[in-house]
Amino acid sequence: MKKGTQLYEGKAKKVFATDDNDLVIQEFKDDATAFNNKKKGTIADKGVVNNAISCKLFTMLEENGVRTHLVEKLSDREMLCRHLEIIKVEVVVRNIAAGSLVKRYGFVEGKLLENPVVEFYLKDDELDDPLMNEAHAVALGVATFEELSVLKIRAEAINALLKHFFAERKLKLVDFKLEFGRHKGEILLGDEISPDTCRFWDLETNEKMDKDRFRFDLGGVENAYSEVQRRVLGQN
Ligand code: UDP
Repeated sequence: MKKGTQLYEGKAKKVFATDDNDLVIQEFKDDATAFNNKKKGTIADKGVVNNAISCKLFTMLEENGVRTHLVEKLSDREMLCRHLEIIKVEVVVRNIAAGSLVKRYGFVEGKLLENPVVEFYLKDDELDDPLMNEAHAVALGVATFEELSVLKIRAEAINALLKHFFAERKLKLVDFKLEFGRHKGEILLGDEISPDTCRFWDLETNEKMDKDRFRFDLGGVENAYSEVQRRVLGQN
């Protein structure tokens, strides 16, 4: 597979064309940002760790009937993917109150949510990814009501699979963000699933093992990411 021109550079990844129009290469960087780019830094080897974790999780999801953009892991930092038309909706699923749920609604951090909360955010950095409902998304023209209902059902199914997967690895899946895209009339899961896009707490100690360590300068960022990788890949 020949790596072609760069199509896009985001905060944590670059996307390259290939000699097949239907395929792109997603390259994971070590750059880290938080609070909509106000905080910037790097996390050593984050790209390698997040690529490994994402490839493993997307493979597990595919094995359980969830269609994703993953074709194969190409190298340490590269993932070969189907070329999606990204839907400009970030889908957040929450099992335990944290982050903006605490800030916005006054939940006590750590409160178990009996029913997982699914939220839609507009994928637009200039507007700071505002929270939106289905009517907003349709009015903005970013998705149809039918697509949004598919996103919600998919997100709930993915949550059930991930929650189970992480519980077996002694991690609580607090919340996470998903992105989807259109591909040949279908909706596929895209982007990544990693400690950059999820909150994980250790099942026994509740220690934070995700990007919150970077966001709030808790220290031990690299260790937390590689411990999540170890548990996800089942390495010793
Ligand atoms: N998230 C993300 N990208 C975003 C916003 C949120 O990956 O642009 C993830 C975040 O890591 C967390 C979940 O979505 O796992 C919920 O994030 P929240 O709304 O609490 O916002 P935050 O406080 O993380 O900005």
